[in-house]
Order: sequence, then structure tokens, then C-alpha cells
Amino acid sequence: FQRVTKPPLDILLCAPRGFCAGVVRAIDAVEKALTLHGAPVYVRHEIVHNKYVVESLKRKGAVFVAELDEVPDETRPVIFSAHGVAKAVPAAAKARNLFAIDATCPLVTKVHREAEVHHKRGRHILLVGHAGHPEVIGTMGQLPEGAITLIETLADVAALEPLPGKPLAYVTQTTLSVDDTREIVEALQLRFPELIAPHKEDICYATTNRQEAVKRVAPLVEGLIVVGSPNSSNSQRLREVAERAGCPVARLVLRTDEIDWSAFGSIRSLGITAGASAPEVLVEEIIDAFAERYDVRVETVSTASEDVFFPLPRELRGDAAPAA
Ligand code: SF4
Repeated sequence: FQRVTKPPLDILLCAPRGFCAGVVRAIDAVEKALTLHGAPVYVRHEIVHNKYVVESLKRKGAVFVAELDEVPDETRPVIFSAHGVAKAVPAAAKARNLFAIDATCPLVTKVHREAEVHHKRGRHILLVGHAGHPEVIGTMGQLPEGAITLIETLADVAALEPLPGKPLAYVTQTTLSVDDTREIVEALQLRFPELIAPHKEDICYATTNRQEAVKRVAPLVEGLIVVGSPNSSNSQRLREVAERAGCPVARLVLRTDEIDWSAFGSIRSLGITAGASAPEVLVEEIIDAFAERYDVRVETVSTASEDVFFPLPRELRGDAAPAA
């Protein structure tokens, strides 16, 4: 017999990684609604941006819809996703007397309330974020059209023409790149020194901590995998952060079949992290895939500890939820 020895591979696991408190709450909300009320439970939009999570909830009886008019039965629960929704959505649910449950992350709701307060105080609001992302659609939809201007780039800052005599305030999407956002905010402050900032950073703790861990690991490894979906904003940012921190090959991978072995086939060190909507089981799958080809040694590099917890939406706490 010829003994085949595998080449060694040092895996550095970023910590924190994966599920944040808002995602845990949103998934728990769907599961609790299924337990309390049975199937089907309708969910407007992907509850969190991860196909694996969505598929496993579908198997348990969740039905995902793009809009409320796809919910055929007023008596069944309908859950709004963690990204938040425009005011028109709960209003439409109320008009149809739907049994709506809002799983918007409390840290997104905080941004919604901030925007409302600025508006009430007569300020024009700048929202730093990415066009088309559900969170941005939800935040813009908190206020009448024209109350919020979306700022995506430094060019948008330069082109901005504010209304004379109207104070300016800014809020941001929760899942942005910390560094890019700092650049944009600094450019805004340079042009508008009176610009009103959030009391507390809008980019959430989970986004910040995951980016910090990647910044620590990325310069130490030849390749880095972000476990996450292409439509997950925070996962995309993690890949960019890894590239900028000097990692030669950084890829976003949903499952093992997406690993590009031509890029990862001859490395000696690998970083792994996961976006806030990616379950740990997918990280384990990726490690197992590498262990088939390499003699792996896994070490965790931790840059922060997290103990954030959000209780379930009111309608799902205890056994007090109304019967469907
Ligand atoms: Fe909430 Fe942040 Fe998680 Fe988004 S990434 S759900 S804002 S904790």
C-alpha cells in the first residue's frame, strides 16, 4: 500500500462570526409561530439572506412571499423579515386585518426611529446605504417621499444639493463597511460641518465585530472564505474587508460545492468567517471539505465576545399569542 499524506493547512476561524442576535430572533420567530399556530406561516421576503435557512424553514411549513397580496388567508400569521419594512407594509396588513408579526431587528428599528425624529424636527435626512437593499427600502419607506436622500458613494456626497435653510442629519444602513462609511461620513462632515450624527453608530455591533475579526485574520492567511449568500450585504462587506486587509484570495461561498479548488487547492493557511445570516453548520461543512484534501489544524482567532440577545416579538412570547 502506498500511504497518501495530505498537505498541512492551518485554518484560522474568525470569531465572532455567523448568526447575530437579530437573525437568531427572526428565525426563532418563524419557528415559534409554526409551533404556536401550525403551518403554513407566511414570511414576507427572505427572513434572513441565506438560502439554507430559508429552505429549512420551508420544510417546516413556512411559505415565503414577495408581497402581502400573495398571502391568501387572513387567519394565518405573516412575518416581516429582519431587514425591516416600509410603513406602507404594516399599514396594508392592518387594512386587510392580517395577523402580522414584525421580526425587524431592533437595531434596524432604532434607525427607523432616528429618521422619524429628525423628520419631526424639520431636518432633511441622508441615508448612507446601498440602493435596492431591503433594509434601505424599509428605512426610506418610514417617511414621505423626498424626506430622505440616499448616499451611496463619495460622488453622491459631492453632487448633493441640500435645500437651503433645512438642517441635515444622517443615518446609515446597519450592515455597511465600517471603513467606507467613515470615508463617506467624513466627506459629508467636510461639506456640511453642521451635519447631525446618530447618538450611537448605526452600523450594528455584529457587522463591526465580524469586520474587525476579518481584519485581524486576513493579513495572516493565503486565502479566506466568507460563508454567506451573495445577497447578504454584511457577507459581501466581509469579503471586501479581507481583500483590502491584504488577503490574496477572498471568496464568498454558500456551500462546499462553490469552493473554487483552483484558487484554494495549494494554500497552506486559510481564514474562515461567516456572515450574520449564515448558520454554523455551513462553516463546519466547509472545514470538512478542506479536511478531505488537507491535514487541517484549526485555531480560533477571537477579537470580541458577544452576548446580545433580543426577545421574540410580543405576539410570540410565552403562550399568550392569539389563536389563529
Ligand atoms: Fe440586526 Fe445587525 Fe444582525 Fe442586521 S446584522 S439583523 S442589524 S444585529
